[in-house]
Amino acid sequence: MSDPTRPKTPKIIAVANQKGGVGKTTTTINLGAALAESGCRVLIVDLDPQGNASTGLGIEPDARTYTTYDLLLDEVDLEDVVLKTGEDNLQIIPATVDLSSADIELISNEKRSFLLHDALRQPAIDQFGLDYILIDCPPSLNLLTVNAMVAAHSVLVPLQSEFFALEGLSQLMLTVREVRQSANPSLRIEGIVLTMYDMRNNLSAQVEEDARQNLGDLVFKTLIPRNVRVSEAPSYSVPVLRYDTASKGAQAYRELAAEMIRNQTPVAA
Ligand code: ADP
Ligand code: MG
Repeated sequence: MSDPTRPKTPKIIAVANQKGGVGKTTTTINLGAALAESGCRVLIVDLDPQGNASTGLGIEPDARTYTTYDLLLDEVDLEDVVLKTGEDNLQIIPATVDLSSADIELISNEKRSFLLHDALRQPAIDQFGLDYILIDCPPSLNLLTVNAMVAAHSVLVPLQSEFFALEGLSQLMLTVREVRQSANPSLRIEGIVLTMYDMRNNLSAQVEEDARQNLGDLVFKTLIPRNVRVSEAPSYSVPVLRYDTASKGAQAYRELAAEMIRNQTPVAA
């Protein structure tokens, strides 16, 4: 029996793909919102200097007093960088463009690959009672993404249902393997999720077939459809689950959250 008084260990998931525009940020926000809606306590870490996850959740630039940069490089306390969003159970560590210099500044740091790992394992994390931490990675396999993979229990890979979708995946998997060998032996692939899937388009079906053939069970059964409500939601600073709760996009992210919870393996502390 688990002891309810013992602080739980949040499951840490890096949402990564070095290609831009494949749905990393959209998946981080909406999977996070779907998990939160189902009663899980979720923290999003915005690890992209573009700060799209922060903007998409309505965190004004003026409100980003402390950011992921400060957490990594200025050793600011967790309680000072974690902000509430408009959604119950969903919090965020925001990012600004400052983070773009972190990649260079990290190089000379002895603990350069472990900064996020160490930051997220401070005892102070317990006060948030988190179930999940989702890390929105930049579109690159740089030191920031490596920090995410070293900190994480697993990697979730959004794959855009487009030609060339699978290209670049071997590079990503190579990075996962290197991180396993050097710093995080138990790093798993949480799954690969097909995004912007177009039911009426043969190409989407072809990409799905290729992905399932090559990657088998790693590919989530849930498909995230191309849905205009999903792309509109960030300009209203809310997840699609709030913007249009009955939309196909919102439903799909709820399904993805449920599938992920069903697949869950316990997290080692
Ligand atoms: P990344 O973080 O990988 O760069 P984004 O999540 O920012 O990618 O998505 C890229 C663009 O595609 C954004 O404009 C986003 O609104 C749009 N988009 C993402 N997922 C969907 C979807 N399911 N349906 C329609 N548009 C989408
Ligand atoms: Mg992004």
